[in-house]
Amino acid sequence: MHKIDEKLANVTARIKRAAESAGRNAADVTLLAASKSQPAEQLRLAFAAGARRFGENYLQEALDKQRQLTDLSDIQWHFIGPIQSNKTRAIAEHFNWVHSVDRVKIAQRLNDQRPAALGPLNICLQVNIDNEPSKSGVSLEQLDELALRVAQMPHLALRGLMAIPAPRNTDASHCSFARVATALKQLRHQHPNCPLDTLSMGMSADLEAAVTAGATIVRIGSDIFGPRAAATAPTPP
Ligand SMILES: *Cc1c(COP(=O)(O)O)cnc(C)c1O
Repeated sequence: MHKIDEKLANVTARIKRAAESAGRNAADVTLLAASKSQPAEQLRLAFAAGARRFGENYLQEALDKQRQLTDLSDIQWHFIGPIQSNKTRAIAEHFNWVHSVDRVKIAQRLNDQRPAALGPLNICLQVNIDNEPSKSGVSLEQLDELALRVAQMPHLALRGLMAIPAPRNTDASHCSFARVATALKQLRHQHPNCPLDTLSMGMSADLEAAVTAGATIVRIGSDIFGPRAAATAPTPP
């Protein structure tokens, strides 16, 4: 098996190739290492190889790793998993970004609980782009209403949209990603004062399709860290 630094270099090269063939600047695509279920030592290796942004899905696991990695001063933490309301305070206090906001209630709690000294919490609204019943995310129909509310919250910075398309072929994924990109453009017109610059989309299997459609953050797990143990299911709270 390849080492993390080789895998990270491969992923970076894939991003660069995909950006260039789409006529985009590779510097406009940020790599987020999706590190759920990986021990802190793996994150430390990825950091040593150049990764600075890490995405976590489970609060307790993330807090444990944060405690073990306090010496990595310019590390940035992104919360990318489903959010229960009893977890919002710790998320508001311990993360730089949240990609998975899909309800006003959760946004309101994050806003109210964000320590003012940390500055606004960066928010992406998660869109259920293929209307999958089992998946988190707001529907495109309800997106405007949610965005309108979040845009008014002073301790949140509405940065953009996050989506996970249904697992299908590349053309279908590209189509879903393109619809998310269109939705972001529309939001930008509606909210000229929000820094709406972020499309968080693309994982190991569909990075290229996402970058082609305009992704600015790709969230890559298994192609950096290797396959996860079968238990990707949440551990009990
Ligand atoms: C696990 C996860 C990823 C990374 O998925 P890979 O297929 O391992 O690259 C990205 N985004 C979210 C929300 C995840 O939970």
